[in-house]
Amino acid sequence: MPPPVVGIDLGTTHSLVAVMKGERPELIPNRFGKRLTPSVVGIDKNGQVHVGESAKNQLVSAPDRTVMEVKRIMGSSQKVSLGDRSYTPQEISGFVLKALKEDAERALGEKVVEAVVTVPAYFTDAQRQATKDAGALAGLKVERILNEPTAAALAYGIDHLDKEQFVLVYDLGGGTFDVSVLEMFEGVLDVKASAGNNHLGGADFDQAIAEWLMQAAEALGLELRNDAKAKARLKVAAEAAKIELSSVMETHINIPFLGVKDGEPVSLEIDLPRETLEKLLGRHLESTLKPIETALKDAKLEKATVAEVILVGGSSRIPMVHQLLEKFFGKAPRGGVHPDEAVALGAAIQAGLKSGAIKSGNSIM
Ligand code: ADP
Ligand code: MG
Repeated sequence: MPPPVVGIDLGTTHSLVAVMKGERPELIPNRFGKRLTPSVVGIDKNGQVHVGESAKNQLVSAPDRTVMEVKRIMGSSQKVSLGDRSYTPQEISGFVLKALKEDAERALGEKVVEAVVTVPAYFTDAQRQATKDAGALAGLKVERILNEPTAAALAYGIDHLDKEQFVLVYDLGGGTFDVSVLEMFEGVLDVKASAGNNHLGGADFDQAIAEWLMQAAEALGLELRNDAKAKARLKVAAEAAKIELSSVMETHINIPFLGVKDGEPVSLEIDLPRETLEKLLGRHLESTLKPIETALKDAKLEKATVAEVILVGGSSRIPMVHQLLEKFFGKAPRGGVHPDEAVALGAAIQAGLKSGAIKSGNSIM
């Protein structure tokens, strides 16, 4: 057996690693048993590097020793200062990749030295090269850089290569929104056009909900605008409520001892129905239709010509996203894959083709 080649989704907010198990791609859980590793790097008081959940946990208490969203500056000459040193974006991403590599090695019980790593379709050569360099720093040979929408299409099983067709990939993540139109032709999946909004994603939705909670707290007489810790707790509660409302119609938010009024601790307890959430997020979500129109126009396509709409990114799990897209395209988006896992699974499929773990058959090379 050749050593496994893993597939890695190196995301702005989360990263994932997957591998082929027989004929199917499978996610590899991290050291905490989670499939998603926050793309956050922190250095603790002893100079020890932390990646993921433990780094995310020190964001509020040690912001000067913690960095997130480094993907936004990949390929630039900007430096990141962390504790008493500064790092290149490649070094920071390298820490994330190294953690994923180690988690994969632990789970698979063997060395991992090669990976397929995904990047947004719009990444420049410099950004792609920086991503490869990050891999090298982590001890990984980046065998191939794959476009995220292409990876997602692979995961959704877009492999009817006999047909010539167009698919649209709608990727709403933690901090970015990307839409890509792909053409399938003679065995090749080609990105024809891409558009999006580099500053729209789940973090904005959390912010909108946290602001709504802040107003509820103010109605109780709490003044928290200068209280970083209270604001961080509102954000955490906001994200949890948002995620829950993707599967239930109403959620109850309870934040004990959020602040103090007249010397007494005050807790915040409030119901958040999905309807209210949709009012808070509606404007943001409706704004994603515009880049879709732009991408279709650039690809010289009518929306009726799109054979499949593919959902990617954790935020595309919001039911209102499905409703908006179904209304816009006149058909439901393709289902069957967890949208936040699709890119990593597709990267593993590509990696499997390379290492011979699956037969290339009629799949996309
Ligand atoms: P990225 O590609 O930017 O790293 P992800 O695809 O991992 O991002 O998406 C992360 C975002 O998805 C976060 O803002 C998270 O809160 C959101 N998210 C995850 N699951 C859900 C859900 N079930 N409903 C709504 N939002 C979700
Ligand atoms: Mg992503």
